[in-house]
Amino acid sequence: MTWTDLARNGRILVVDDAMENIQILHHALRDEHEVLFALDGEKALELALEQQPDLILLDAVMPGMDGYAVCAALRNSPRLQDIPVIFVTALNQPEDETRALEAGAVDFISKPFNVAVVRARVRSQLTIKRQADAMRELSMTDGLTGVANRRSFNDTLDAEWRRCARAGLPLSVIMIDVDHFKLYNDHYGHQAGDLCLQQVSLAMARCASRPQDLLARYGGEEFILLLPQEPALGAEVVARRILEEVRGLAIPHAAAPTVPYVTVSLGVCTALPPLDSVDSNALVRMADSQLYRAKQDGRNRYCKAEIGGGAA
Ligand code: GH3
Ligand code: MG
Ligand code: MG
Repeated sequence: MTWTDLARNGRILVVDDAMENIQILHHALRDEHEVLFALDGEKALELALEQQPDLILLDAVMPGMDGYAVCAALRNSPRLQDIPVIFVTALNQPEDETRALEAGAVDFISKPFNVAVVRARVRSQLTIKRQADAMRELSMTDGLTGVANRRSFNDTLDAEWRRCARAGLPLSVIMIDVDHFKLYNDHYGHQAGDLCLQQVSLAMARCASRPQDLLARYGGEEFILLLPQEPALGAEVVARRILEEVRGLAIPHAAAPTVPYVTVSLGVCTALPPLDSVDSNALVRMADSQLYRAKQDGRNRYCKAEIGGGAA
């Protein structure tokens, strides 16, 4: 089995203040999984953030931060709350087990344990985790284009808005709509239309490559691009790049009254810091009215505006 296969079989973080316990679990799991370890709670949280394990095996009694505190911290962290935790502990009373499950653990294994049982329980929790990950992914993705869906966009917009507001940074969005797409469907058929949307979304995704940028399908042939921390000039650069990339696809559109290939129109809006005089709905609304202007002005272009900046 290669290292990549092991990672595919799950990355497990073992947390225990006794090195010999870590060694026993490492030995039991290393053939099937990638095993990381931490000797205390603080280190475990740090490593979990950095390595995003699929499962945590957690000792209950540790000096400093104990297992229950680690579990509570995991549940309170947006980036860690979906990682399942199995307590592996010398504690063996029903109230210990109850307390662990109430703290958010998915399972509880008392020491001394049987290695085969530990392996089997680990495998079953990893399977559940994999299914949950796939469901979450599916619930946030648009089925046709594979980009984020509108719900996922709204969640991310809220989070990024708060982050930018706190940090005193701007935030831009670009609303994008395919030009004369009804005529495209009427002329080439709905299947060709679907294919066109896939190509256009791929081209647009190439235009915003920073990790925090998010392209989403907002409605039928309407997309929205979130550009956190991006000032107005940067957003304009991205808008021009999108126009170029989509033109570059050179998808024929014989029925279009403007130009005989597929184009898009864009509405760009930047919220300027401080963001407290406006909200994220106003940003999206303003991007939408800029898109409307771009359509009115002849399509295949962008219009832009700014909001916020302390102005009433
Ligand atoms: P405009 O340039 O003003 O945007 O005109 P338009 O024709 O693009 O806009 P309109 O809103 O009138 O039409 C949008 C069309 O997009 C109509 C709808 O059938 C089509 N559409 C929406 N979702 C999909 C989809 O998933 N697949 C396909 N093939 N077509 C879709
Ligand atoms: Mg359209
Ligand atoms: Mg539309």
